[in-house]
Amino acid sequence: MTSAFLLDGRVAVVTGGSSGIGLASARLFLEHGARVAICGRDESRLHAAGESLGSRDLLAARCDVLDTASVEAFAATVAERFGRVDILVNNAGQGRQSTFATTSDRDWEDELRLKFFSVIRPTRAFLPSLERSDGGAIVNVNALLARQPEAHMVATSAARAGALNLTRSMASEFAPKGIRVNSILLGLVDSGQWRRRHAEQAKNGESWDAWSTTLARSKSIPLGRLGRPEEAARAIVFLASPLASYTTGAGLDVSGGVSRHV
Ligand code: NDP
Repeated sequence: MTSAFLLDGRVAVVTGGSSGIGLASARLFLEHGARVAICGRDESRLHAAGESLGSRDLLAARCDVLDTASVEAFAATVAERFGRVDILVNNAGQGRQSTFATTSDRDWEDELRLKFFSVIRPTRAFLPSLERSDGGAIVNVNALLARQPEAHMVATSAARAGALNLTRSMASEFAPKGIRVNSILLGLVDSGQWRRRHAEQAKNGESWDAWSTTLARSKSIPLGRLGRPEEAARAIVFLASPLASYTTGAGLDVSGGVSRHV
């Protein structure tokens, strides 16, 4: 049966594929006939992800996307195993909650470094393979914060805006090479980072459902709930797939209606 996303025979690399949105994306790519490489820093999380995906078409390797040597080694491992790469999802990372008053210079440097180099390093390492593909595609996982900053996430918002700008430049530069580059702009999505915040912040054993419903209400999310990782994954896989063959430089909103832009 041909994959609905036309992904048969394709190879997709998902950075940060051991948890949350990256893991859901890896699962969807596999379900649609792609071979998939995921990476993360924590060995046990990678192992658990590999077990849960349970596929012979999966490569799970340790790699810190901020470390050039580590990214190059990952790219070499993927080339050795699969011999090609068609899709790169730059997903690895997390947000930082701090205001202008509580963000130190070091925090700013860390956040800018994370948001830019988590895109730059993997892209540089996989670009030669993507150029050889007849359907090269990059999806940068970004946040609505890029367009709609929040004061309590000041550094993440500013860095996200820069990364969205970078995505647009990449789309222009890589279009003649046949590589499309798009972003998804997330609101709040149930994932490892939100589950960790629930574990830290929930009072008196408050359940995830109760805690996240209150969170969604406090954020005035029109659809009334957090997104599910599979919902973000569907947007990622769509943009990465030949179904989006005439779309590049776009930012697809997956925020449950939080965006106020026309
Ligand atoms: P998770 O914490 O569930 O997953 C993050 C993944 O990234 C993990 O696999 C983690 O593995 C990996 N990772 C983090 N840093 C690195 C690194 N330096 N090198 C390699 N892998 C790394 O979070 P989400 O699924 O929510 O996050 C996915 C992306 O979506 C992130 O970029 C996040 O900022 C973005 N996003 C998420 C939103 C949400 O509401 N969930 C909202 C807006 C954006 P390990 O720690 O083992 O390295």
